[in-house]
Amino acid sequence: MASKTPHSDGMTELCENCGQETAHSVSVELKTESSKSENSEFSREPYRVTECRSCGTETSQRMNNA
Ligand SMILES: [Zn+2]
Repeated sequence: MASKTPHSDGMTELCENCGQETAHSVSVELKTESSKSENSEFSREPYRVTECRSCGTETSQRMNNA
C-alpha cells in the first residue's frame, strides 16, 4: 500500500489460519440472511467482519446473538 494507514482502524486478533494473533482490519457489515427478497429488508443482521492483514482471511461474526 502506498497510502498511510491510520493505526486506529486495525486490531490485533487471533487468526485461525495464521494460528496466532495478527493485525486485522475490522468493519461492520449488514448481511442479508434470508434469500427471500420480500423479507430481505427485515432480515439484515449486523456482522462484525475482520480481515487478517497477514493472510487475508475474512471472519464474520454475528453481533446479535439471540
Ligand atoms: Zn491470518
